[in-house]
Amino acid sequence: MITRTLFNPDHQAFIDGFQRFIEKEIAPFHEAWEAQGYVDRAVWEKAGEHGFLCMSMPEAYGGSDGDKLFAVAQMEALAAGGFSGVGFGLHSEIVAPYLLHYGTEEQKQRYLPAMASGQMIGAIAMTEPGTGSDLQGIKTTATRDGDDFIINGSKTFITNGWHADLVIVVCKTDPAIGAKGTSLFLVERGMPGFEKGKRLKKLGYKAQDTSELFFNNVRVGPEQLLGGEAMCNRGFVALMEQLPWERLQIAITGVAAAQSVIDQTVQYVKERQVFGQPVARYQNTRYTLAELQTEVQVAQVFVDKCLDLLANEQLDSATASMAKYWCTDLQCKVMDACVQLHGGYGYMLEYAVTRQYADARVQRIYGGTNEIMKELISRSMGLPGH
Ligand SMILES: Cc1cc2nc3c(=O)[nH]c(=O)nc-3n(C[C@H](O)[C@H](O)[C@H](O)COP(=O)(O)OP(=O)(O)OC[C@H]3O[C@@H](n4cnc5c(N)ncnc54)[C@H](O)[C@@H]3O)c2cc1C
Repeated sequence: MITRTLFNPDHQAFIDGFQRFIEKEIAPFHEAWEAQGYVDRAVWEKAGEHGFLCMSMPEAYGGSDGDKLFAVAQMEALAAGGFSGVGFGLHSEIVAPYLLHYGTEEQKQRYLPAMASGQMIGAIAMTEPGTGSDLQGIKTTATRDGDDFIINGSKTFITNGWHADLVIVVCKTDPAIGAKGTSLFLVERGMPGFEKGKRLKKLGYKAQDTSELFFNNVRVGPEQLLGGEAMCNRGFVALMEQLPWERLQIAITGVAAAQSVIDQTVQYVKERQVFGQPVARYQNTRYTLAELQTEVQVAQVFVDKCLDLLANEQLDSATASMAKYWCTDLQCKVMDACVQLHGGYGYMLEYAVTRQYADARVQRIYGGTNEIMKELISRSMGLPGH
């Protein structure tokens, strides 16, 4: 196995500290959270107290001024442990960066420290019941009324949606000009007309409070337009700029989960006896695991290279799409093969491999489906769009 060189001693100390946090504050409760359909809010506040939220945000806004690798280490630990209910990554590394990169000074000061402390939970709402892949086709509107905007529409499948105190809502401010008429709004819990729908029942991610959100004549002042007037009708550009990092995060968690399940399966097949010998003795078992380990190793090297590109601001959309599509396809392949090697126990939810199998499936769907990733890659090759 190739030794990873990207983490320095500071990252390593962080990983150890976060692992202890998982053992104390997450692992003992995750099964109960899966049964109730959401994580307890207290885990957010505890994470904030320990500096485990918004680590890459500047200290001036409550963060730790860390590089992205602290967040990477955190997402890998959560994915490896199968703690899919805990939506820290989306909060800290998808929602917070929009505020940091595009927000006004007032918006950064109002929201980022509250997010870093865990007092405010963040979500981003792009997808609608009628539109997911075709983001240009969203129907939610923000219509000017004097200085204010009135938001109308509905969103679905929103991660952290039920807990969310702050939602970045993708709206059309000028529907006549298509994608160019898109803006991002900061909608807070409790604003009149903003309602949360039900928590959605899912194949996996059972403890994740994925929800519907409804906006019925939600009146917001101009200060709720992300980035202020200068960012009006520039929301689509912001989305396109942020998506490569968002997609790489999915690849990172895919590889971490796949490696963890391979490790668990290696243990299992050494212990489980069939026909008088461990399952590990069969050539099929050994070759299957050897093949999967090889592919996961290749994926890890690719992901780490993408992280290097990210650190140098060179990660382009097509490369991030390759990572997302290939690593999540591989994740699902690994999960399926490892469930098979567990036999009937691989179908029992008491086994982590079974829950990780169910959790894996959505990785090929959200953040842009893997088919959309192939569209983006093929376009970068000069091939015509659909
Ligand atoms: C658990 C979960 C969490 C999520 N979290 C969030 C969130 O926090 N925020 C948010 O905004 N969204 C979120 N999503 C939504 C997610 O990003 C969308 O589901 C995804 O983008 C796909 O959109 P869709 O469901 O409308 O599928 P559709 O767009 O209807 O796609 C249906 C099928 O058509 C295929 N297809 C579509 N276009 C093309 C094309 N051009 N070429 C070939 N095939 C095509 C797709 O690949 C897919 O197989 C989440 C979804 C899930 C399930």
